[in-house]
Amino acid sequence: MQTFFTLAQLADPDIAEADKILRACVHCGFCTATCPTYVLLGDELDSPRGRIYLIKDMLENGRRATAEVVKHVDRCLSCLACMTICPSDVNYMHLVDHARAHIEDTYRRPLLDRVLRAVLTRVMPDRTLFRLSLLAAFFAKPLAPLFDLVGLKPIAAMLRLAPAKLPARTAAGPRIFAAKGPRRGRVALLTGCVAEVLSPQINAAAIRLLTRHGVEVVLAEGEGCCGSMVHHMGHAEEALAQARANIDAWTAEIGGEGLDAILITASGCGTTVKDYGFMLRNDPAYAARAARVSALARDICEYLATLKLEASTAPASLVIAYHAACSLQHGQKIVAQPKELLSRAGFAVRDVPEGHLCCGSAGTYNMLQPALAGQMRARKVANIESTAPDVIAAGNIGCIAQIASGTAIPVLHPVELLDWASGGPKPAALGA
Ligand code: SF4
Ligand code: SF4
Repeated sequence: MQTFFTLAQLADPDIAEADKILRACVHCGFCTATCPTYVLLGDELDSPRGRIYLIKDMLENGRRATAEVVKHVDRCLSCLACMTICPSDVNYMHLVDHARAHIEDTYRRPLLDRVLRAVLTRVMPDRTLFRLSLLAAFFAKPLAPLFDLVGLKPIAAMLRLAPAKLPARTAAGPRIFAAKGPRRGRVALLTGCVAEVLSPQINAAAIRLLTRHGVEVVLAEGEGCCGSMVHHMGHAEEALAQARANIDAWTAEIGGEGLDAILITASGCGTTVKDYGFMLRNDPAYAARAARVSALARDICEYLATLKLEASTAPASLVIAYHAACSLQHGQKIVAQPKELLSRAGFAVRDVPEGHLCCGSAGTYNMLQPALAGQMRARKVANIESTAPDVIAAGNIGCIAQIASGTAIPVLHPVELLDWASGGPKPAALGA
């Protein structure tokens, strides 16, 4: 695609990067058919190619974001299905991240949207505030239809997404978990924010599984939210501050006893940590350390695939529908490993039809775009249920919460099943 940025514009490294991305696009349109919003809405402006044109026009003309651009960019899930299909390697992720930051800098959203986004930005990355908000949502849950009636649909969506039962609070425990038997490796595990409050059993299963297989696990002092929540809302500076805090925490471990990998159990977070090197490329104080951290980042299943897991003790008859989280399959290109690990552990693994399409979770998308997210969830759940599974496995906490809010079938993280299969406890969601 031809671009017409001036030399003065190209002096800005972010614009120069956008120019490179835009020039790679040959406007072939292969990406439209795999885009969940185009599939649902059939509007070119809700396709990757349409959004690319809107973003090009906005950036090239140095224009403030308009309500029209914001509408179509906000509808994008950042699912990155368009990147998987693109024959020209267009880095849509970096382009839309840039557009979102430009929107936040130049566009004044309506009051309700501003308030909602400010609350999400403040609450989601903070475990204490998030737990308190879950408590409030637990009591306000019956009011969801009322919020729908008065047009406060995002609040209704938040209430519906809140778990019916509050997860138990995990007491602060040790930060280092020694390997059982001879030590084969040493890794840091990102505990992050939302996942640790909603489903602390996922990281607990990962720690048991890793230490049982000879890997020492450290929870680095000072690590927290990876920054992806705010990053996808266009709050670039907050996202970078959260990234720097994690980089400091892990760099201290790398410089101490050393790390073989930095493991992440929520693939949405993993995609962002793997991108720290790019996000901080223009920060001389952090660029090298960020690149080092990104190079060490691994999804938990990506790392487990390099270990020989113990023989299975799980019931072979259990049928698992594997939901491929977008951030894992499109963002990190990790497709086969989780399914192979589950199959080798003895489970009967089934692929889900239309597996490339997003479930509608996408960070805060299911709260900010509840109508579209609801349609995507219904389609995803129908596809999953068509495989008649006993259990659904998904490698991202957002997908787990989104799908669980639409089905009675238990939704677990693959590590919970792999831990059980190699001698750990049976996941509580599967009953006694
Ligand atoms: S598939 Fe790639 S090159 Fe083709 S229109 Fe989409 S982004 Fe552009
Ligand atoms: S990231 Fe997903 S929703 Fe956004 S344009 Fe690409 S395919 Fe469509």
